[in-house]
Amino acid sequence: MAKCPICKKSDGAEKFRPFCSKRCSDVDLHRWMGGHYAVPAVEPPDDFDAEIEAALSDQEVQDKLH
Ligand SMILES: [Zn+2]
Repeated sequence: MAKCPICKKSDGAEKFRPFCSKRCSDVDLHRWMGGHYAVPAVEPPDDFDAEIEAALSDQEVQDKLH
């Protein structure tokens, strides 16, 4: 099983191989075409941010408890 090279979580979908979704496919396309920094509209997958935020808020809760 090949993981999506963009979000590295989901398995690639048949339709968007090797990416898991059109979103990840678009991210890769923009990186190749314009470069990462030239295309500020490109965002990482939603679940990527959500996971970081969850990790950060867990950390804060733990800090407060101690
Ligand atoms: Zn993906």
